[in-house]
Amino acid sequence: MRLATFVHQGQRQVGLVSADGQTVTPLALNPADAQRGVLPLIEAAAAGQPLPATTGAALKLADVKLDAPLPLPRRNLWCVGRNYHEHAKELQGSVFKNNNANPAVWPIVFTKVPECVIADGADVVLPGDDISPQIDYEAELAVVIGTGGKNIAKADAMKHIYGYTIVNDVTARDVQMRHQQWDMGKSFDTFCPMGPWIVTADELDGQHTRVRCWVNGEPRQDGRTEDLIFDIPTLIETISRGITLYPGDVIATGTPAGVGLGMTPPTFLKSGDVVRIEIDGIGTLQNRFV
Ligand code: MG
Repeated sequence: MRLATFVHQGQRQVGLVSADGQTVTPLALNPADAQRGVLPLIEAAAAGQPLPATTGAALKLADVKLDAPLPLPRRNLWCVGRNYHEHAKELQGSVFKNNNANPAVWPIVFTKVPECVIADGADVVLPGDDISPQIDYEAELAVVIGTGGKNIAKADAMKHIYGYTIVNDVTARDVQMRHQQWDMGKSFDTFCPMGPWIVTADELDGQHTRVRCWVNGEPRQDGRTEDLIFDIPTLIETISRGITLYPGDVIATGTPAGVGLGMTPPTFLKSGDVVRIEIDGIGTLQNRFV
């Protein structure tokens, strides 16, 4: 299934996207639940409850406005740094310079605040050069947790995945490097485009898919999740050590090589730039920077 959150006639709804990606059929959710996007469906599934029935006719996706599938995630998004081999190489002298002591043992984990999530098609707002002139993109496969748990073993981890979506882990590089923690440089308002929808785990093998990114049509990133340094089961096992994961938790799995900071010279986003991310089996996430 592909589950989208969208606005139609001024009302937020959740629906099933057709296989051809052309239409969305609303699901029977009460308006308060629909405000939370796909999250109530994930919680219901984790509790063993069925998907609500569809209601009404299929709507053309062109006639609705997509919201992020999780418009306000239940808490901070978990994110993983330096998780593709080639990306680790391209940034070894900059953001990863303090993290090379024990690089192969534990992943870098940081978070983004839930309020920075925006939809496919929404504008990312540049904060202004006085706050940061170094805004960069990071195309990422995001895992959405279904059944929660604590101390989840690697061997069981895939059973805890509800589905997958795309995240652009937008980053203010100078702010990221200025502070001991990365959260500030990763959490500016609008800095987490998410979408276009969630694809359930039965329809996508997140461990074998392709992640690509273009800036104004120019190819910048092209990686495969087979190249992850810490694979998805390892990430779930690590993040759930001593910490309970809940239905709807999001884990952004890291970005392939090809970010702006890794270019010669480093090249950052400017007003009017359009970043498009495509992940095979999910779809496209596109946002303009203004
Ligand atoms: Mg990232």
